[in-house]
Amino acid sequence: MALAAVAAAVSTAALAQPGPQPCPAVRDVLLTNGRIHTLGIGNAVVDQVRIVGDRFAEVGTSRTPTTSCTRTIDLKGRTAVPGLIDNHNHIVLLGLRPGHDTRIESAASIADVLALLRARAAALPAGEWITSIGGFDINQFVPPPGMPRFPTLAELDSVTPNHPVYIQMSFAGPSVTNTRGKQFFEQAGIEVGADGAIAGGGMPNPTTRALFELRKLQTLADQKRGTQDAMRYAASLGLTTHLDQGGFPATGTNADGAAHFDRYRAYDALLALYAEHALTQRIRLNFLHMETDVATPELAARLNNVFPHYGDDLLKVVGIGEFTAGASPIIGQATEVWRNGTRRVAEAGWRNENHSLTPGDFKVIIDEWAQINASLPAPGIRDQRWVVAHAPFITQEYVDKLKALGGGVSVLGGWRYISGTAQQNGPPFKMLADSGIPIGMSSDGMQISPMNPWLGLYYVVTGMNARGEVINAGQTLDRAAAIRLYTATNGWFLGEEGDLGTIEPGKYADLAVLSADYFDAGAVTDADIKRITSVLTIVGGQVVHGSADAL
Ligand SMILES: [Zn+2]
Repeated sequence: MALAAVAAAVSTAALAQPGPQPCPAVRDVLLTNGRIHTLGIGNAVVDQVRIVGDRFAEVGTSRTPTTSCTRTIDLKGRTAVPGLIDNHNHIVLLGLRPGHDTRIESAASIADVLALLRARAAALPAGEWITSIGGFDINQFVPPPGMPRFPTLAELDSVTPNHPVYIQMSFAGPSVTNTRGKQFFEQAGIEVGADGAIAGGGMPNPTTRALFELRKLQTLADQKRGTQDAMRYAASLGLTTHLDQGGFPATGTNADGAAHFDRYRAYDALLALYAEHALTQRIRLNFLHMETDVATPELAARLNNVFPHYGDDLLKVVGIGEFTAGASPIIGQATEVWRNGTRRVAEAGWRNENHSLTPGDFKVIIDEWAQINASLPAPGIRDQRWVVAHAPFITQEYVDKLKALGGGVSVLGGWRYISGTAQQNGPPFKMLADSGIPIGMSSDGMQISPMNPWLGLYYVVTGMNARGEVINAGQTLDRAAAIRLYTATNGWFLGEEGDLGTIEPGKYADLAVLSADYFDAGAVTDADIKRITSVLTIVGGQVVHGSADAL
């Protein structure tokens, strides 16, 4: 028993530190023999970097002699990039998923989905719920000319006979379950088809009622475990930093979808892990507000009682978004509550972020922002880095207007990759990059879009969706320009460009060693980009994914 306990303690320590540490109090790591793309000034590619403490100390040369405390990791010629930054996603919601959420968002076939579920089942005690809620589209599971579909109840049973399974698309379904799940849901009065199908649609619907039943089973300990799973998944893809954009205010009823959370309790698991020094990703928070009271008392309370840009290198508050008050403008006009809330954020001097989805909404947002700015004393919102997110249809005229306000545009690829069409295409990556406005990438995972940054980068580079149709021709970027949007340019969106986004002396030692050389178009085809993962992810000088010994 004692020996087993010691062995367990040793293996935990090995996970937390880059290999056996002769001097536990000293973090001194030398990465050698790599193709390390710094993405810093001059775009240098170097073969070694030295990490001391939680920051890069030397890049490209090592003048400081190694000591007996230096841990040397031979990258064996592998390609490394700065840790990827996702400037707009919903990792907090992902952490709160009931059951053991299993990401199937990168699956390219039904067989892929089943393989992922089989592997998950093998690692979990019988009877535990296996779920996958949001982030994928059935479009990606069946190559054309086949019709998109879910796996069936029989297929799910074939790989998970001992676990109840629940797989839900998007905010509110549809969904599918297996035999064990069907028994559970039917006992709760929810209609499940013979093939395991659970209907979606307007909320509440059978899917949101099923989701409500699963949420009733969940404890804070489950939420902490889910949040750790979410961070582990992110690290496996080379991600190291996220700007979370909140969730819709939950009603606590069966009308809540995948993107709803209790805005007063949603951060409990994250804060508990932070207190336990268990965060393995850097998390930044925007607070989402959509109250309908035109006086916006809730937003006022937030702005009066919370410090913006407060926190530390692992967990920090950024601003308000991706909703400010009420619903965002759809097309045509702003609501009074939204205008009032927006003015409040401007007067408080906070960063603000709104999403744009249509060919008209960004015009209302940016014109209203300009009007509010004009009524404020200089510099108004110009130093607050207000951001329009997604913006698939944004035009040059409005990019120029937003640039004049000191704003930036957050763009995404994975959403259009899994569900985009010739009409639902964009964003205009090339126009935005040429305009000189701050532009950075995000996933907007994990409801309507995958977290996987490599699916997003594939879309930026090819303009091609999961059905193999080119839908964004003329607006693609080359690979080197594309990955800058996930790294070097994303520090600006957090207000942390001096600390994050590139591999340069003095910046936080965040880095991903890739499974394939993303930059080598001869050896790694465009399609291969979708399958890239990280084999070793380092956050603040600590290995959070992979093993130096397994390179
Ligand atoms: Zn979002």
